[in-house]
Amino acid sequence: MHRISIKIDSPRPDYVKEMAEVAGLFFDAPALTDGEADLCVLHTEQLAEGQRRCDIRLSGCLNGEHSNTQISMADPLVDKRLHKRQVKLALYHALKQATGQHPPWGSLTGIRPTRLIYEALGEGLTLNRACARMMDVFDLRPESAGLLAVVVDTQRRLPQAQPDEVDIYIGIPFCPSRCRYCSFISMQVGRGELLEPYTRALLREIEGAVALVAQRGLKPRAFYMGGGTPTAMQAGQLARILKAAQPLMRPARERTVEAGRPDSMDENKLKAIRDAGVERISVNPQTAFDMTLAAIGRAHTRAQAEQAFRLARKAGFDIINMDLIAGLPGEDAAMFEQTLKWVAGLGPDNLTVHTLCVKRSSDMHRLMDALPDGEQVALMVQLGRAAAEGMGMAPYYLYRQKHMAGNQANVGYALPGRECLYNVDTMEDTVSVLALGAGGISKRVTPGRELVTRAPNVKNVAQYIDRVDEMLDRKRALWPLRDEAGTNP
Ligand code: SF4
Repeated sequence: MHRISIKIDSPRPDYVKEMAEVAGLFFDAPALTDGEADLCVLHTEQLAEGQRRCDIRLSGCLNGEHSNTQISMADPLVDKRLHKRQVKLALYHALKQATGQHPPWGSLTGIRPTRLIYEALGEGLTLNRACARMMDVFDLRPESAGLLAVVVDTQRRLPQAQPDEVDIYIGIPFCPSRCRYCSFISMQVGRGELLEPYTRALLREIEGAVALVAQRGLKPRAFYMGGGTPTAMQAGQLARILKAAQPLMRPARERTVEAGRPDSMDENKLKAIRDAGVERISVNPQTAFDMTLAAIGRAHTRAQAEQAFRLARKAGFDIINMDLIAGLPGEDAAMFEQTLKWVAGLGPDNLTVHTLCVKRSSDMHRLMDALPDGEQVALMVQLGRAAAEGMGMAPYYLYRQKHMAGNQANVGYALPGRECLYNVDTMEDTVSVLALGAGGISKRVTPGRELVTRAPNVKNVAQYIDRVDEMLDRKRALWPLRDEAGTNP
């Protein structure tokens, strides 16, 4: 992968950003420019007798061309969608030919490949046919299509969402220190001055949410406390928050706290969480190497992660997830394999294998030269899958991000029956969410996903504390009472 500048000359300037994303499948974050560039892409097209021919010509550091022809559709919305896909595919195939690379997810630049499978199933295709279509149309590699098939097959066996169900999310936007690759809104807990005012604001929002759920006849489906790092709060604060949230937690099918950072957990906090009826927790080591942990700004060690895991088991958590990251600076596939062996020895019930995603704004950019190459990352991802399967787990959700190392995917694995519904609901965008806390985004999904409307909370913690009543009003407007809107829920 090279970092290059790219100039795209197209009659459709509104497609240029997405064309650059296609180029990003072959080059590391190419910089778009109007001036002189390493690579020039010339897009031209002709429309004749209802057929649209699209030509892509590459010049500069690569030479090549590709053309395709497609029928122009009468419906302008459908036509625009298919036209954009046609242009992106022409560019993809020109780049594939010129570079000799075959990206693992083919021409797909979206973050949820499973969505396309569900669309195909909705059209009446079988799962196998849907996956074959992904290979035909988007040039997915067979192993990626196979992974999609297992994921969707597992998801279809989970309890399907009912129209009146709603997931409950509580966000704790504090962390013990900031990881260098972090792209979340979380702030360092520091001396903790904001923890108590935040707890009080959250209690107020929870009280309002409990009333809203009762008045609107909503049924909590999955409860999830994330962040940030929920265990950055003190044990007493966690206990008060979870006690207030009981009416939202008890009826839910599952209760999860993403404890996350091992350096924030202790026996008292774990007990407070377990006593509140939470059965699922995450302990996220990311790697077994202290040197890497120090390099990425995680102020904990492998020994602390191991101790946190054992404490969580001792506290009675039946379902423990561990998150790992493939592609961390200074690591290679052999090191990742050692991390996987160490994790397997602990025996988690869920394993999530992320691949490192470096945003240009993040502090990680200074470590770019130490990052393993795409081939090593691909090998790590394969090793992750083999290790999860060796532990008896199956993949059950996946998603992709921009700027992922090796253009891979983040994959969640679970032992049978230990899948986290909340993760699936979030990735598939199929269930309404009542989100509390700074930065939480509530979402109302109509049956069949015809309409998804959102009500975001402010991200800034101080503003959230000051404006919590307004955040509640936003949620009330998202779920108006029957006599306000005529329909409910
Ligand atoms: S633990 Fe997560 S939210 Fe907190 S700083 Fe690290 S990546 Fe960000």
